[in-house]
Amino acid sequence: MTAIAELAARVRHVLVRTSHPGNIGSAARAIRTMGFERLELVAPARFPDREASALAAGADDVLARAGVHAELVDGLAGCNLALGLSARRRGITLPELSPREAAAQVLAAASRGEQVALVFGNERSGLENEELARCHAMVRIPSVDDFSSLNLSQAVQVMAYELRVAMLEETPAAAPPAAEELPADAAQMERFYEHLAQTLDDIEFHKGRAPTTIMLRLRKLFQRAQMDERELRVLHGILADAQRMADLARGKGKPM
Ligand code: SAH
Repeated sequence: MTAIAELAARVRHVLVRTSHPGNIGSAARAIRTMGFERLELVAPARFPDREASALAAGADDVLARAGVHAELVDGLAGCNLALGLSARRRGITLPELSPREAAAQVLAAASRGEQVALVFGNERSGLENEELARCHAMVRIPSVDDFSSLNLSQAVQVMAYELRVAMLEETPAAAPPAAEELPADAAQMERFYEHLAQTLDDIEFHKGRAPTTIMLRLRKLFQRAQMDERELRVLHGILADAQRMADLARGKGKPM
């Protein structure tokens, strides 16, 4: 299994008291596209169902393996972290997270080997207070106040997408970057700034002005660029050529 698949396998999506089997199918498809496979259904109104299979659009493996439970506690079995998705803040005081903040927490927990659940409520009534009380935090997708409720499977999609992005950003690519593609370190940057300062002198850039301010400005510019070693070499090459041309212009050097 790849690193991402291993993390994703620790995340389950739990749908509570789903009324429309079509939403179960759409949710299965939504999580499958983002690399997740584990769906737990708590007291679904109808399941299995043809409508669920139709809307899964090929994510039948997710539906086939979906667990069906009578109670939320059973769907959460073995979980170390449960996050409840809710359009509205309920009477209950849980920390509220954005999908992005939630994704970071899920990823951190899964990286420690913990099992994580994302819990979604019924289409009409959402998650009950007792259901949210089994969660460690609430996640609210920042929709508009006067029309805040997303379709269930679309809420699943948004959250699964955020998780996928977080995992892609966090998980190192299969091969570590080649050494020369590493960002230049402080000592290499210092050598570059010395070369740059010397070159600016050689080409008589300063014209009597103090070099301090311009050097600080140039440092800021190049720090922002976060150059790798290869890019730094190209710049050293350009500076060396400029120095050579300056020597030539002064009649000191010889043409290459
Ligand atoms: N009126 C219900 C809406 C239910 S929509 C409510 O206030 O919660 C079905 C499920 O989709 C919700 O229980 C929730 O899990 C998820 N969902 C819909 N819109 C959401 C939003 N803006 N933020 C977080 N979850 C949302």
